[in-house]
Amino acid sequence: MPAEFIQDHIAVVYDFDGTLTPRPMQDYAILPKLGINAEDFWREVGEEVNRTGAENMLVYMRLLLEKAEQAKVDIRRSDYADLAKNIEYFKGVEQWFDLLNQYVEQRSPGVDLRHYIVSAGMREILDGISIKDKFKNIYASEYYFDYRGIATFPKVVITDTSKTQYLFRINKGIENLSESINGHMPEVERPVPFRNIIYIGDGLTDVPSMALTKKEGGHTLAVYNGEKQRQREVCRDLLRAGRADFIAEADYREGSELHRRTQLLLNNIISSIEYERELFNCKEQYSVDS
Ligand SMILES: [Mg+2]
Repeated sequence: MPAEFIQDHIAVVYDFDGTLTPRPMQDYAILPKLGINAEDFWREVGEEVNRTGAENMLVYMRLLLEKAEQAKVDIRRSDYADLAKNIEYFKGVEQWFDLLNQYVEQRSPGVDLRHYIVSAGMREILDGISIKDKFKNIYASEYYFDYRGIATFPKVVITDTSKTQYLFRINKGIENLSESINGHMPEVERPVPFRNIIYIGDGLTDVPSMALTKKEGGHTLAVYNGEKQRQREVCRDLLRAGRADFIAEADYREGSELHRRTQLLLNNIISSIEYERELFNCKEQYSVDS
């Protein structure tokens, strides 16, 4: 048992594409530079995946490199980050993180709220987003850059199912990718127990992460673009199947339905942290082993 109570951290984990932004990040940040129509590009990716059974992420990462080569455009790491400033967020996203931080700080000053992104998109783009400093860590797919500084091969690939590895990293406090995640760690030594995690995603690609979070006692929210009826239906299915605790339109402004429902989940977690902390102290006081 740790010498003091350490499980007073809350993690809100966000998917990126479709969750914080209406469109995939490549549509803002790289496809226009290559002069490629986004619909055409994603259709080509989808067709190749259907035809060959290839992994979706590997197909889009390779096709982007091929398109850049065909267009004779060298894209360096810094170019991706520069292009990220074109990303458009859902309403209120840029203020959302401070809004929640202040709320938790006021309600229970000892509780530490952290935000994370776990995305199958591109780390090189996310490195340049305007809200980057709001996150304790950002996990996403990455390219390997050769001696000329040109992307040539995937280095990290995050898929729907491998996203769950990063939830365990957050849970165990082993956030550096060079450290192995597989060693055993007793529940009581994990700084962010799953009951302190809120996962926010937008669709079927989030199902493995939502299913794991729920199964381990955590909380999930699914959001949809209010202008897209089909996305609303996907969220309804997630609610019906018990994948999502709540669903709401992706409106991050103060007082929105999403804000209200997120606060409710935070209240719930804060109460459980206060209970667990008191229990820990009580056992310490009376020398009772866990
Ligand atoms: Mg998404």
